[in-house]
Amino acid sequence: MKPAAFAYAKARSLDDAIALLGGHKGEAKLLAGGQSLIATLNMRLSSPSLLVDINGVAGLDGISVKGGMVEIGALTRHAALERSADIARHAPLIARAMPHIAHPAIRNRGTIGGSLAYADPAAELPACLVALDGEIDIAGPKGKRTVKAGDFFKGLFETALGPHDVLSAVRFPVAAADTRVGFAELARRHGDYAMVGLAAVAKAGGKGLSDVRLVYFGVGATPVRVRAAEAALTGGSIEEAVKALDLDPPDDIQATGAVKKHLAGVLLRRVAKQLAEVRA
Ligand code: FAD
Repeated sequence: MKPAAFAYAKARSLDDAIALLGGHKGEAKLLAGGQSLIATLNMRLSSPSLLVDINGVAGLDGISVKGGMVEIGALTRHAALERSADIARHAPLIARAMPHIAHPAIRNRGTIGGSLAYADPAAELPACLVALDGEIDIAGPKGKRTVKAGDFFKGLFETALGPHDVLSAVRFPVAAADTRVGFAELARRHGDYAMVGLAAVAKAGGKGLSDVRLVYFGVGATPVRVRAAEAALTGGSIEEAVKALDLDPPDDIQATGAVKKHLAGVLLRRVAKQLAEVRA
C-alpha cells in the first residue's frame, strides 16, 4: 500500500522542528529513522499531513559519558549503540539488548529517540531505560523538561510527549563495578518483537543482590516493573521471586496471557542467573 499524501519539511534546528510541529494546522509528525513511522503510513494506520524530518538537526545524536552518567542523543542509531565501546563498557544492559532489536538493516536507521517515542509495549529499549532508572529530555513549545523513564510511558503507544514536543536525549547512571545486569527475551524468530522480555539491573554485595529492578516488556501496555519479585530476589530466592510475579498479561496475537505469564517465570530464572554472574 502507499501512504496518504503528506507534506515534508526538513528541520534546521531543534527550535525549528518545534516551530514546524506547532505551526501546522493538521497533524504533524517527526520523522527520525522512519522504521516504524513509514510502515504505519504505508498501512494507513496513521495519516499525518506533515512530516518534520529531524535527521539534519545538529547536536541530536551521539553518546557521551560524563559526571557518572551516560547520555545518548535521540537521533543515535541502534547500530551506533551496538558498536559503541562506551556502551559496551558503561551500559552493558543496552549492549545486551541491542542484538535483539529487529535486524541489522533496521538497526542502521532506527533511533533510540524513535523507539522510546513510539513506545511499542514489546520493545526492548523502553524497558531497559526504566530498569536503568533513566531520564528523558524533552524540548517543547514551553521550553525544556526532564521526565523519569518510569513516568514517561503512559499507556499503549502513549508517552509524556505532547504533539509539539521533541525527545532530545536520554540519560542514565554508568554501570559501577558492583552493577549487575540481566537481559533475556523470547521471540518467535530472532529479530521479531518479543513475546515476553525482561531487563534487569541490580547491585552485588557481600550478601547477595540489592537495588534489584526487574522490568518486563510484552506483558502489558507499558514496561512493567514487578516489585514483589524484586523484593524476593533481593532476599536471594529465585523460586520465591517467580512465585511473587504479579503479572496479568493480556492475550495478544503472539500468545495467551497464561503462556506469557509462564514465559515470564522462565525468563526470570535465566535473568536471575545472569545477575549472579561476576562482571568480567
Ligand atoms: P520513526 O519511525 O521515525 O518514528 C517513530 C515514531 O516516533 C513517530 O511517531 C515519530 O514521530 C516519533 N519520533 C521519532 N523520533 C522522535 C523524537 N526524537 N521525539 C519525538 N518523537 C519522535 N523495535 C524494537 O524495539 N524491537 C524489535 O524487535 C523491532 N523489530 C522491528 C522489526 C521490523 C520489521 C521493523 C520495521 C521495525 C522493528 N522495530 C523494532 C522498530 C525499530 O526499532 C524502530 O527503529 C523504532 O521503533 C522507531 O525508531 P525510528 O527512529 O525508526 O522512528
